[in-house]
Amino acid sequence: MFDFAVVGAGIGGSVVSSILNHLGYNVVLFEKLDYLCGCAGTFKRKGYYFNVGAATFVGLDGNLPLAKLKHILNLDFPVVKIDPSLKIYIKNKIINRYQDKDMAFEEIQKAFYDKNNKKFWNTIYTTSDIIWQTLYDFLPQDSHLPSMKLILKAFKNIDKIVKIAPNFFKNAKTYALQTLYNLDKDYERFLSYHTLITAQGFLDEVNVGVASLGLTYPNLDNYYVLGGMDKACEVFVKNLKHVFRKTLVKKIKHYEDKFILETTAGEFEAKNVILNKTIFDMFELFDDPYIKEFSFKSQKTFTKKWGAFTMYFMVDDVFDEGFEYHHFILLDEEIPFTKSKSIFLSISAKEDTLLSTEGKRSITISTHSDIDSWFDLDKEEYKRRKKVVEEFILKKLYEYIPIFKDVKLYNVESGTPLTFRRYTSRYMGAVGGIPVISEYFFKYPRPITPKKGIYVVGDTVFPGQGWPGVSLGAINLVQLIDRGFKI
Ligand SMILES: Cc1cc2nc3c(=O)[nH]c(=O)nc-3n(C[C@H](O)[C@H](O)[C@H](O)COP(=O)(O)OP(=O)(O)OC[C@H]3O[C@@H](n4cnc5c(N)ncnc54)[C@H](O)[C@@H]3O)c2cc1C
Repeated sequence: MFDFAVVGAGIGGSVVSSILNHLGYNVVLFEKLDYLCGCAGTFKRKGYYFNVGAATFVGLDGNLPLAKLKHILNLDFPVVKIDPSLKIYIKNKIINRYQDKDMAFEEIQKAFYDKNNKKFWNTIYTTSDIIWQTLYDFLPQDSHLPSMKLILKAFKNIDKIVKIAPNFFKNAKTYALQTLYNLDKDYERFLSYHTLITAQGFLDEVNVGVASLGLTYPNLDNYYVLGGMDKACEVFVKNLKHVFRKTLVKKIKHYEDKFILETTAGEFEAKNVILNKTIFDMFELFDDPYIKEFSFKSQKTFTKKWGAFTMYFMVDDVFDEGFEYHHFILLDEEIPFTKSKSIFLSISAKEDTLLSTEGKRSITISTHSDIDSWFDLDKEEYKRRKKVVEEFILKKLYEYIPIFKDVKLYNVESGTPLTFRRYTSRYMGAVGGIPVISEYFFKYPRPITPKKGIYVVGDTVFPGQGWPGVSLGAINLVQLIDRGFKI
């Protein structure tokens, strides 16, 4: 019998399995798809490889969770460092987001001059630095109420906490308006879309603490993962003996001292189960009424969700060596059927022999999308909407990054929340986790369920999505399971 059966090998499932395996537990990991890493996976279509969504890999240095795990688990990732991490286009302005804080500041000051920019950005940098320095002292978190232990930990960090406390819980937009003289629509959009892609909330929905992490993510060490983002999950699971790919877990039954997992590869027994599913639909695997109630309650509490519209294609490699990896276009108008005004484009590295092949490079484009626009449509209308969005995105791409106008696109495909639902099984195809907006800040779900021995990992049970948020959530869960695991 296994100590832990982990259902799903997204970032959460892969990282948690790897840590538990390192601690000596007997772990089995199931993934329904033929690639690992879920929303951060890499799929093959008609001979070419594409990143599903996630393309930025952040934080192998300093206080970030990946840096800690890399060290503890002795991992070696196939990465290339990138700087600037992002090239942002807004009207006729181009802003390179360099890692160096002074260089980054200069770019911002050039694009959005403000006498108080220094003051604003100093608060943002200090807040995020202190969060990353002190965060681990506040783990593990299993309850919303501050425990005695937590209060003692706060005292330990009191010198740092007093520095950020005055602004931490302020609304980020209100703080920006109070501090800056010229927060025009473009500057606000620039700030807002940083918080949207990291915390799933616009500037006026998040507090300064959360905004600081989103606004400074381009200042962290950013990497390109060679061979596709799924290789990062492969690195995590490389020492695991029992990884079942293309294996769907269909049902989980509880007996007195064990769980039985019914899968497409047969039955497996485990003492504990960790679900890398969203908190909203994990109930589908159980008959247990408590689990069902837990899921339904979450559905009712966290009603704000985002989906994604994605496009994938190959292009002739006409790009020079210095062509940046990630391009973020911020528009004046909404992309139809998405409620989003941004386009995020990532291009595969020239030296990536898997994704860049036959003189072509692999492109993944994504934008946030409203979910309701894609469900309950007849086939023709669904297809029509997809076409409208594809054409709109390409038109904007040609406008903002004209080099694409002159290159041939091959194998253009696109994905909607329905596509994410089909492949990753995520509830309503919602991605990016539960928004870390002020409304939800003190209600955020925890990885412990009402049923002993059943835990959850992933971007709906710990604030923050992507590599930093989900791997931190996995660390938090392991510390709840095994208090001996120190970071
Ligand atoms: C378009 C897009 C762009 C993004 N860009 C970035 C980025 O650049 N950088 C970044 O860090 N993050 C990014 N993110 C966010 C990041 O990808 C996600 O937050 C993260 O991957 C979520 O991980 P997760 O562990 O919650 O699981 P998921 O990715 O949801 O994975 C869950 C896994 O479980 C499997 N599964 C589900 N049910 C079963 C079952 N019954 N049996 C077996 N297997 C099952 C699924 O197939 C899936 O592989 C992006 C997300 C999207 C959608």
